[in-house]
Amino acid sequence: MIKLPNLTSLYFHGLSKSAASDTFDLPDGPYDIAEDSCSFEHIFLDNSALGNPHEFRKAVESAPKSLKSLTISASEANDMDGWLSCASETLVLYQTSDLRGYRCNLYRPDELCTLPKNLETAVVDPEDIFLDEYGYRGYGCLYNANNWVEPFQFFTERHDIDYIPSSIETLVLQRPSGRLSEAEADQIDDAIVAILARRSVYYRHCSKCRPRCRNYFPHLKAIYLGALEDEQEYGSKEPRRRVWFQNAIRAGRQQGIDIHTRTTRSRPFHEIVFPTPPNPRDLKFVPESVKEDLRGPRAFDVYSGTWGPPGCGNCGLCSTCLRRYDAAVWKELDKASQR
Ligand SMILES: [Zn+2]
Ligand SMILES: [Zn+2]
Ligand SMILES: [Zn+2]
Repeated sequence: MIKLPNLTSLYFHGLSKSAASDTFDLPDGPYDIAEDSCSFEHIFLDNSALGNPHEFRKAVESAPKSLKSLTISASEANDMDGWLSCASETLVLYQTSDLRGYRCNLYRPDELCTLPKNLETAVVDPEDIFLDEYGYRGYGCLYNANNWVEPFQFFTERHDIDYIPSSIETLVLQRPSGRLSEAEADQIDDAIVAILARRSVYYRHCSKCRPRCRNYFPHLKAIYLGALEDEQEYGSKEPRRRVWFQNAIRAGRQQGIDIHTRTTRSRPFHEIVFPTPPNPRDLKFVPESVKEDLRGPRAFDVYSGTWGPPGCGNCGLCSTCLRRYDAAVWKELDKASQR
């Protein structure tokens, strides 16, 4: 497939995943694919077993002349860190629970600084940032917000290591395996406020435009935090009793940056386009298994990376909303929006 001429986008469902055994059967390689020989700009691997195939990954990395986006959804991998270098502008990971990195949950965030510095869209696992800090600063900082470094450093640097390049436009915090503590949620809230505050002072600094500048996110358009408010595998299932990320939402609004959470209802400033799998609606031939997806309206969900019934728009009335936040919180929000 990689040898077909003039294709720019590849969507592949079920790569090396055999339905019967669920085993990984990509051939070891080496693959006979020349460097810069392929025209793919966008690769989307869905429901695939990626294992840790060094040779295959090398081919994906080196064969395309200018690969702009890499998207991996609902797949298995043992070494996500190794995949990062394949993406240049867009790195999107959906349904990450079976993606693993080296000594981390998803990938080590400082790996992002090894990429060419024109990354525009990235997905990070907040647990990896907490974990990294734990590794550098030792036991205690995971549980003690007072041990934290300057809040703005949360997304930007540790010991002079850059995390997220300042060319970033859209940042998605993926769903962690367990519910964040209130203190951790507050750290993320503070970090975003601190970045936005510095941004208004240092807005010209940018690693894309000025290679040696620090990260103050001059191109930032949106941060997606909604996955952090969803029900997680571990931790409390109690509805929250106060709105998470309120300060970030407020600071974002002042600067025309969308902070997407499970309580925001305002019209976004920016329309962000994410890599999507094909919408069954657009297919000429639809497999039996997705036929029922054709009934009723469909919308794309940026957290799961799938097409499904449209969300409620954070109505505050439905069972999903009430699982996330207590009814009293929604009442407060309703009052505030009427003011
Ligand atoms: Zn540190
Ligand atoms: Zn720039
Ligand atoms: Zn709702």
